[in-house]
Amino acid sequence: MRYHDETPTGPFAGKHTHLSTRMGSQPFADTTQRVDVEGLTRPKPRKLAIKKIPPELRRGKPAYKSESVWYRRIFKRLSEDSQYQRSAIQLAFALLCLWIGAEFTLFMQWGTSGGAEAFMPRPPGVEGFLPISALISLKYWWHTGIINNVHPSGLIILLAIVAVSLLLKKAFCSWLCPVGTLSESLWMLGQRIFGRTWDIPRWLDYPLRSLKYLLMAFFVFSVAGMGLDALRMFIYSPYNKMADVKMYLFFADISSTALWTIIILVLLSVVVKNFWCRYLCPYGAMLGIAGWLSPLKITRNKETCVDCELCTKACPSRIKVHKAGRVWSDECMSCMACVAVCPVKDTLDVRLSRKSRPVPTPVYGMLVAGAFVAVTGMAMLAGFWQNSISREEYLRRFQSLDAPVYQHFRGEVPAYGPHD
Ligand code: SF4
Ligand code: SF4
Repeated sequence: MRYHDETPTGPFAGKHTHLSTRMGSQPFADTTQRVDVEGLTRPKPRKLAIKKIPPELRRGKPAYKSESVWYRRIFKRLSEDSQYQRSAIQLAFALLCLWIGAEFTLFMQWGTSGGAEAFMPRPPGVEGFLPISALISLKYWWHTGIINNVHPSGLIILLAIVAVSLLLKKAFCSWLCPVGTLSESLWMLGQRIFGRTWDIPRWLDYPLRSLKYLLMAFFVFSVAGMGLDALRMFIYSPYNKMADVKMYLFFADISSTALWTIIILVLLSVVVKNFWCRYLCPYGAMLGIAGWLSPLKITRNKETCVDCELCTKACPSRIKVHKAGRVWSDECMSCMACVAVCPVKDTLDVRLSRKSRPVPTPVYGMLVAGAFVAVTGMAMLAGFWQNSISREEYLRRFQSLDAPVYQHFRGEVPAYGPHD
């Protein structure tokens, strides 16, 4: 089906109006330059097929806009606008992480004061920031069926993230991950300051993207090479028992090298969209592979698509959505930004296959958050959340944190005895 270009009504009418104005109702003008007889450079017109959106396929005006009661408007918008819903879920998870951080800080104050400060139990969610320990726990669980009692929630969080990715693509990165939220906020800030962000040229983009896979391969092969005894030795080592405490102290007393590295990454994230996630995050690499295996894909209906390219322009992962039938890219984070801007009904959505029914985007968001909460919630109920390190043991370990058994060398922990 071929349609003529037409200004749409609906949620993205503004953007599309701009596009239509730019393209006009005349044939598109391409950017190929020519020199005319007076020596002036003018664009050379090129006739392209122009498509119109039939009235029955135009997306209607969102209902929340006509709602006058504010809380009903918010509720309706949450159920209609995937990007609004995504921001709400991102905010909720970022606040949860801040809450965990605040509790852990109070726990650290208690521990480093030798118990003089008020006791705050250690929040188990902090183990979500120990991915190497979780990877080692995963292999140990795989071989023995045992969820270790040193960092059980670290393993559960890893399993929840992988489960979400296998079912719903790399959605964890764009809906839940606090680093992903920070990264997105930084490039949005960059757009506000500079009016744009910059794309790294393709010839450099591809090798840089492989860096995160190299980092992931390094960690995966390091863990894969560990025998059962080495896994057990690491998991129950004094170093691993205090790994979250050591991580906190690393950031609390950060070296100038580490601080400068973070500052450079932040600055790069302001000018390049998702710099850390796209090029360096080994977790993201692993989830990219899991997401690639997911049967759900962003799917474009070539019959009704009007080739407006709004989807491609909206994609923060630089995917050419307007050319894809199904988006197989490992960089697709299921953010739904492309789906949200498509001006044609039933043209761009998430499906199991081209022929299957689409998953409504508000349902998709609830599935992402719901699957993560369900896995972690079940683990809490089943008793696989809190670790078994007592208050007294923590206090004893806090007092000897400088001992050799709390150090490690390239992932290898020193020998330790039953009383360490
Ligand atoms: S293809 Fe769509 S869902 Fe995937 S990253 Fe790009 S905008 Fe987001
Ligand atoms: S799929 Fe992309 S190119 Fe096609 S109509 Fe929708 S936004 Fe435009």
